[in-house]
Amino acid sequence: MSAKLIDGKAIAEQITAETAAEVARLKQDHNLTPGLAVVLVGDNPASATYVAMKDKMCARLGLHSERLNLPATTREGELLAIINDLNFNRKIHGILVQSPLPEQISEAKIFDAVDPSKDVDGFHTTNVGKLALGDPTGFAPCTPAGVHELLIRSGVKIEGAHVVVLGRSRIVGRPVSLILSQKAKNANATVTVCHSRSHDLAGICRSADILIAAIGVAKFVKADMVRDGAVVIDVGINRVEGKLVGDVDFEAVKEKASFITPVPGGVGPMTIAMLMHNTVRAAKLRQGLS
Ligand code: NAP
Repeated sequence: MSAKLIDGKAIAEQITAETAAEVARLKQDHNLTPGLAVVLVGDNPASATYVAMKDKMCARLGLHSERLNLPATTREGELLAIINDLNFNRKIHGILVQSPLPEQISEAKIFDAVDPSKDVDGFHTTNVGKLALGDPTGFAPCTPAGVHELLIRSGVKIEGAHVVVLGRSRIVGRPVSLILSQKAKNANATVTVCHSRSHDLAGICRSADILIAAIGVAKFVKADMVRDGAVVIDVGINRVEGKLVGDVDFEAVKEKASFITPVPGGVGPMTIAMLMHNTVRAAKLRQGLS
């Protein structure tokens, strides 16, 4: 079998076009311009690239955007005060604090300082709790939400499927497992979460109808870990000899899978698309529209 490629770039573009249409409608019908604030602390080059991409996307969609660049020496109290101001800023509906933060600042404290109704990254304890409880009024983190959309828009049947998630991080593995195991439409999967202490990873992976790799180890998933016809979603982004590769040995695995995401061009583009979607949703909720 040779897998069908899930084109994350095209699907992200589709979502972005839908978001752009919604932004235009909100401006015209409700005089509402959704606004996103992005806070960057320090000068991590990868973070600077991500933040620049977010700015560009806001401009493209006609969103109001504010960027705050703070020095690496910023104290936790200073950042908390800035977040407090953004929480009360009526032009701002979404707040994103770019991770990682310098070591003198507690990420958990900062994420929990953001007003949960502006937490478009879905990292606030309230939103994590809502996701765990199956309460749809919260915000789900953008990368896992992107994985979910990729599956839905590719016509993959999630209901009743055995999903194996490699990785249990706060950002990807854990929330994607919660999203797919919800008692809800386009979910209802049976989910197994694996991590560095799991035994017989290869055997567990072979039992997956849908295999989601999010561990950050280049080409970890080999062809003999994948069942014929399985759907393989590769969240990993690893740089090997200057090239971006995923957590899946793409060339070999694509011969066994029914659907597979490439790296780059799979899950990657979905994250920003879902961030913009969440920001527009936050603005609508704030305005009493839904
Ligand atoms: P992370 O916080 O480092 O978590 C990695 C997880 O994988 C942990 O749960 C860890 O287990 C597990 N793990 C590591 N090595 C393993 C192994 N050999 N066998 C089994 N489990 C193993 O990473 P993350 O933030 O979730 O990111 C994962 C990957 O996704 C990275 O490549 C990252 O760059 C990428 N990513 C992509 C996007 C995107 O937009 N496409 C967004 C976020 C992240 P323990 O819990 O036991 O330590």
